[in-house]
Amino acid sequence: MPSAVSTPTAPNGKVPPTNNPELAGKKRKIVCFSDFDGTIFMQDTGHVLFDTYGCGAARRAELDAQLKSGERSFKDVSEEMWASLKVPFDDGFAVMERTLEMDADFQAFHRYCLENDIPFNVISAGLKPILRRVLDRFLGEDESARINIVANDAEITPAAAAAAAAAAAAADADNNSSREGGDGAADGGKNEKESSWRWRPVWRHDDSALGHDKAISMAEARREAERACAGEDGAVPLIVFIGDGVSDLPAAREADVLFARRGLRLEEYCREHGIAYTPFDTFADVQREIQHIKEEDEAATGGRGAPARFNPRANLWRRISNNSNPAKPALAASPAAAGEKPDPAAAAAAGQGGSAPEETTVSA
Ligand SMILES: [Mg+2]
Repeated sequence: MPSAVSTPTAPNGKVPPTNNPELAGKKRKIVCFSDFDGTIFMQDTGHVLFDTYGCGAARRAELDAQLKSGERSFKDVSEEMWASLKVPFDDGFAVMERTLEMDADFQAFHRYCLENDIPFNVISAGLKPILRRVLDRFLGEDESARINIVANDAEITPAAAAAAAAAAAAADADNNSSREGGDGAADGGKNEKESSWRWRPVWRHDDSALGHDKAISMAEARREAERACAGEDGAVPLIVFIGDGVSDLPAAREADVLFARRGLRLEEYCREHGIAYTPFDTFADVQREIQHIKEEDEAATGGRGAPARFNPRANLWRRISNNSNPAKPALAASPAAAGEKPDPAAAAAAGQGGSAPEETTVSA
């Protein structure tokens, strides 16, 4: 399981030397995965957009309640929230640019990853075009391009263009398409205001109530990392996950080392269930601990075989979830990951990513 705060740093409790020449060239492949909203950025991109230009905070609270009660799925309420946005992409981006705060040490941490050949991936329930543009703005396009984003795609287009495209598609399918269209679609959207845009998620896992099942993506990424390492003297990658919310649990269960932002719901959950994790206040803490783990691992294994901190029990998190207190449906965050039919309550837990204390809100 992931490393605990209390995990000894080495068998003898001492931090091993860092410059042992015998260890040169025997580097463990470390691969980082991180949540976006509430983790890299202190706010939630979706909340900023919906509260400023979309359904508003009050309606968002109603939708969160429907999600929490199981009345509606994460994907369902998310689609309503995104559809409530009518502003051009640039306007939506402008408010994010003004509002979002990046973790003060994230850029330094990302440069550390680049210097140490540590692939850094974002894994998010949000929309990739938005996340990319935010990273481009806050990191610069060159550095942003070095980050792989695993998230839902999106169509963010002028409503007239979207309606025209829909009408054209309908015409392809049916020559009688011009008879109806709803919402002005059949007339190419000429009733829409020029400024009206459509924001529509293109779900990564359309058959999942979560839209993006992070556990599936993480498992895929882990297998890919293992394949990439297979030719390197049988090396096994060390998978790091960094998050803040209960929605991160399905992804976190695939990790060898788990970081949870201090004081938020993921940390609370780990404490409640005795799950090993390392707390962090900023990415400087993450960087220090990863450097420490690298040194510990190189001393203990020479970078070969299984990492010194290794999570061999892929099903651990699922078992914990299944044994959770039924009065806390938000804890059952991984049934979809387990191949079971996701229920709405689990979707409520797994689909959001907002900040604590209530981990039952929809986030981007
Ligand atoms: Mg989050």
